[in-house]
Amino acid sequence: MIISDKEFGEVIVRRNALSSGVKFSISTSGRLSMSVPKYTSDFLAKRFLNSNREVIREKLPIKNPSEQRARDYQKKVLMKKAREYLPYRLEYYAKLYGYSYEKCRLSHANTRWGSCSSNRTISLNIGLMKVPEPLRDYVILHELAHLNHMDHSRAFWAEVASHDKNYKSHEKKLKMYSPGL
Ligand SMILES: [Zn+2]
Repeated sequence: MIISDKEFGEVIVRRNALSSGVKFSISTSGRLSMSVPKYTSDFLAKRFLNSNREVIREKLPIKNPSEQRARDYQKKVLMKKAREYLPYRLEYYAKLYGYSYEKCRLSHANTRWGSCSSNRTISLNIGLMKVPEPLRDYVILHELAHLNHMDHSRAFWAEVASHDKNYKSHEKKLKMYSPGL
């Protein structure tokens, strides 16, 4: 359920069989999110929200409603761009260097640019659409190299270097950007 709150904007209410109390946190979109026990009514959820205003105001960095909406919009645009680009770029490099992967997933985690799992799924962050192309390509080549080395060993870095000789400076420059919105 979503509560439209005058002060906090849209508040996400998650009913959780495992939670015994009310817990407030910030969702990736910057919205306030509250986790409540499974059978909590809407009425009760709103009451919890009202009785915790002071604490929430002090402790949680909630984006205001217009910022929340701006982020939604930004994410949508980025997702559309990413969908039309990243899977094809990945495929291009995989073919070029003879890698085979199972699946390409698009993510919007706040912390990582990409990942490669043992079932050969490569995840790429849609935030890559905001960084310069050489850095974007570096992340793709980095994840592809993980198909052969599931670690950051010397052999791994040697493989990355064989596709991107400037990988060190790309890795460093990437730190100036954040994958989140
Ligand atoms: Zn890595």
